[in-house]
Amino acid sequence: MPGVEEEKRALCSVVVPVYNEEEVILETCKRLRDVMDASGADYEILLVNDGSRDATASLAAEVCRADPRFKLISFSRNFGHQIAISAGMDYAEGDAIVVIDADLQDPPAVILEMLKKWREGYEVVYGKRISHEGISLFKKLTSRLFYRFLNRMTEVNMPVDVGDFRLIDRKVCDALKLVNERNRYIRGLISWLGFRSASVGFVREKRFAGETKYPLRKMIRFALDAITSFSYKPLKLASYMGLLISFFSFAYLLVVIWQRVFTDTTIEGWASSLAVSLFFNGIILIILGIVGEYIGRIYDEVKGRPLYVVSRTENIGAERQGSLYLRNR
Ligand code: UDP
Ligand code: MG
Repeated sequence: MPGVEEEKRALCSVVVPVYNEEEVILETCKRLRDVMDASGADYEILLVNDGSRDATASLAAEVCRADPRFKLISFSRNFGHQIAISAGMDYAEGDAIVVIDADLQDPPAVILEMLKKWREGYEVVYGKRISHEGISLFKKLTSRLFYRFLNRMTEVNMPVDVGDFRLIDRKVCDALKLVNERNRYIRGLISWLGFRSASVGFVREKRFAGETKYPLRKMIRFALDAITSFSYKPLKLASYMGLLISFFSFAYLLVVIWQRVFTDTTIEGWASSLAVSLFFNGIILIILGIVGEYIGRIYDEVKGRPLYVVSRTENIGAERQGSLYLRNR
């Protein structure tokens, strides 16, 4: 634990993934600077530009040129939110690392409370959403259901209603860097790592400007990543359903034999047999799809491509660039 003397010298890194955030980035940088100035810690703010196609990159570069505490890591294309966070953690040099969204939905002032908890000795301090403001009922409902469903599916105990807005200690960050998986669900991985954790409650605000960068398609993919990287239960579904169906089919077979031998009734109807056959074909295809989700992810892992490719940086020392330009496994 840092003592009173060391406390002042503690370096805090703030990782901000940004994707097409031209409308908010300047405001976010300003507010982060104000909050971090008030924190009494030394700090660096790492803006990870996840392949934005608008003016985000040039605005971020301007901020960096005006203030060396701001650093920019620009990806060559859009690699995804979770990978942008990972890159920020790779480049972060702080004793404490905070991950925060760029859209000001996570209020920067909460960082001060997180730092306080960290100084008390907690290694993971996550922000817990106590209420949402201006978020669609659909998103609210699906996210509530999802976190609870995920907890039932996995053995890892993950706090519910918690996003990536959190502070982690240097130790946790180093441990996280040892995790090499591709389709990553960072908040789950941090729970999986363990460590002493605490939470601070906050009200999740409305997006400052712009629209969500998580359309339904990305949300579904994210949910599938979370489930497949922490649970085999969907695969077991096939065996359970297979057993159940075999049991009933066998029972029915006995009935059919009995009818044939001891009665005169012959059962008619190709429609009913067609319906039954289509039903089970449907089930088989669903199960194949589930297996496919896992195989696709295994394929991704096996190819072993770099997690991300950086096309340009600002205020990152040349000696660090060489080794981290491409993050290999
Ligand atoms: N983001 C990113 N890459 C993406 C999508 C999003 O870096 O492919 C960033 C985005 O700029 C923001 C954060 O991730 O800082 C969260 O995204 P957003 O606010 O759109 O998600 P929501 O809050 O609607 O779930
Ligand atoms: Mg947001």
